[in-house]
Amino acid sequence: MAKVLVIGSGGREHALCWRLKQSPSVNGVFCAPGNGGISEDATCITLKTAQDIIRFCKEEAIGLVVIGPEQPLVDGLSDRLSAAGIPVFGPSKEAAQLEGSKGFMKAICKKYGIPTAAYGYFNHLPEARAFLRDKKYPIVIKADGLAAGKGVIIAQTQQEADEALSDMFGGRFGDSGKSVIIEEFLRGEEVSYFALSDGNTAIEFGYAQDHKRAFDGDEGPNTGGMGAYSPAPIMTAPIRETVMQTIIMPTVAAMKKEGCPFKGVLFAGLMMTEDGPVLLEYNVRFGDPETQALMARFDADLYQALLACSKGGLDKVKIVFSNNPAVCIVMAANGYPGTYEKGSVIRGLDKASLIRGAKVFHAGTEKRGQDIIATGGRVLGVTAIGTTIADAQARAYETVDQIDWTGGFCRRDIAWRAIKRVVAVATY
Ligand code: AMP
Repeated sequence: MAKVLVIGSGGREHALCWRLKQSPSVNGVFCAPGNGGISEDATCITLKTAQDIIRFCKEEAIGLVVIGPEQPLVDGLSDRLSAAGIPVFGPSKEAAQLEGSKGFMKAICKKYGIPTAAYGYFNHLPEARAFLRDKKYPIVIKADGLAAGKGVIIAQTQQEADEALSDMFGGRFGDSGKSVIIEEFLRGEEVSYFALSDGNTAIEFGYAQDHKRAFDGDEGPNTGGMGAYSPAPIMTAPIRETVMQTIIMPTVAAMKKEGCPFKGVLFAGLMMTEDGPVLLEYNVRFGDPETQALMARFDADLYQALLACSKGGLDKVKIVFSNNPAVCIVMAANGYPGTYEKGSVIRGLDKASLIRGAKVFHAGTEKRGQDIIATGGRVLGVTAIGTTIADAQARAYETVDQIDWTGGFCRRDIAWRAIKRVVAVATY
């Protein structure tokens, strides 16, 4: 039996803590810093520095640290823990460049023939401007470094592209925008595809689709994600095999060859184009809110799966996902993704917890006395599993309707695309 420490404070970390708690190998789950809802499933603690984390791990004899967000990975937390002899789920600083630098990721793709959008990479504005001439529009402009999901601009005209370049080289994204990628605009549906890797091999770890726009009908401003569902029916068995053979496996082999083996979860943002799946981006951690839907379906020992990424032997680990689909509906504070209020009380969570197959993951909450208070933009991830995608969606909204929170809103059409696709297949 082992104790686990999860680093992070969002809905993704809540879902991981919840599933880890159910692992037959685990007898204690800690989360730093966690949140109001996570404290129901794990012991929340404050650990400010890598040194604090290492000290805590030694004191508590932690068997595995699971790093949730990208920033600590890109900053090298995984390396610090490994150097101290603590098993860690999450790639080294060098391997985390797959997400931390789009230039790095594109160069790996180019060198090893991994399908991705055609691109140019620039460190200076005049060259980038010159590249824009005689290009087709729309075109995509990306800051090289981490920009909290805001560093991608789809320019409809050359003028818009020029402005985006001036913005980035002008310092709008700080150091992240000092180098810029300009790439071909791809058409298709996007899919979030997950694979675990121990540096030598990789194994599929589920797939999902999310809804980025704030309002129903996929309208309104872009957000961190307003909901997700898994599996995504667009991912047929042959397409999944193509993704493993043309994208995931070549990346794992490439990283090993480059001397920075990838250990952790590879989260591939894919565009399903007419010519097949193409890699838009890599993330080096789990997705949010996709993880909430994935964890609702995960049906094996999560601790053993994550530990194998660190220790090796992933090929011997059992990965099982329920065939039953899951839907996660994000409840966000009114005003999100713009300015929003904090501090409103959320009621009805007890009633919500009674719905079968449902679980409310917390993303931005705090416990004050007996009250749960909203403290973030995305606040709850109301997740349910069902016999069909429509059933999962109905249960998730039934759960949403038990929650009494005037300070928040959610979309009412999460998973519409999957439901439409399943109905279309059924009536064919
Ligand atoms: P990224 O962070 O690279 O995934 O980009 C964020 C979002 O921008 C993606 O989820 C897509 O919706 C969009 N995007 C990025 N690259 C492209 C592309 N080459 N063609 C079309 N859309 C893109």
